[in-house]
Amino acid sequence: EEFRNMGTVANEMIDERVKVHAQLVAEQKRALESDRLKTAFLANMSHEIRTPMNAIIGFSELINDDSVDEKDKKKFVRLILQNGEFLMSLINDIIDIAKIESNQLNILKKRFQLNDLLGRVESHYREYISNHAGLDLHFEVENHLPARFSCYSDEFRLKQVLDNLIGNAIKFTAVGSVRLIVHAQADRVYFRVKDTGIGISPEELDSVFERFVQAANQGKRNYGGTGLGLAISRNIVHLLGGEIGVKSKSGEGSEFYFSILC
Ligand code: ADP
Repeated sequence: EEFRNMGTVANEMIDERVKVHAQLVAEQKRALESDRLKTAFLANMSHEIRTPMNAIIGFSELINDDSVDEKDKKKFVRLILQNGEFLMSLINDIIDIAKIESNQLNILKKRFQLNDLLGRVESHYREYISNHAGLDLHFEVENHLPARFSCYSDEFRLKQVLDNLIGNAIKFTAVGSVRLIVHAQADRVYFRVKDTGIGISPEELDSVFERFVQAANQGKRNYGGTGLGLAISRNIVHLLGGEIGVKSKSGEGSEFYFSILC
């Protein structure tokens, strides 16, 4: 009997050793992968910063040039503004990721009208896609969300998630449609952002919410981006008391869905 017990103990010890070893290997693998992601992120980030910087410097020089038309100068000012705003959002994303990593992303809840926010988001994207021929935008508010539907949450952070998801949907859908569907049930509001764009392959689907993760395939690289938006969005949604997920098929489109407590 005692002998058999010793055998069991020895087996358990070996099992434990094997488990610890497997854990170490997995940890090393994760560290290597995270190093690789960070290096790729920095290289990509430099590119993401340099492109709008070049535009801002180039257009500023043109504005200073007396031989350039006044009409063109107006256009250049608009382009400088757009590129400046893009840089600002990039920096804000980096700040948000740093805050998330140190658990310091603050949520400021107050009462606001959900329909007002949706209205503002809709008109922004209508204007934004007005020069994207072939792209349709649909906003659907289901379940008769009352005209004055007041929500107790963080309006600024909710808008940030919607901007990330709708921005991605537009970015990855050259021709087709982008749909935002909203419905409320009890104390929750559910959002779905559906597009008919390039979609996400099954291998990529699991990791899109990880920070720095971008599509590995070269084709998608051309779309720009830093791989921070979805990681930030997932954190915000959790802080707002909800869950976020995605369904997608390569070549057919994607559907990102999330809910928040209201
Ligand atoms: P990025 O700045 O690269 O867009 P995100 O964190 O927002 O970073 O997204 C991570 C990756 O998820 C993207 O690089 C892209 O490969 C994929 N992705 C996100 N949204 C979509 C979408 N609507 N359609 C296809 N791919 C998407």
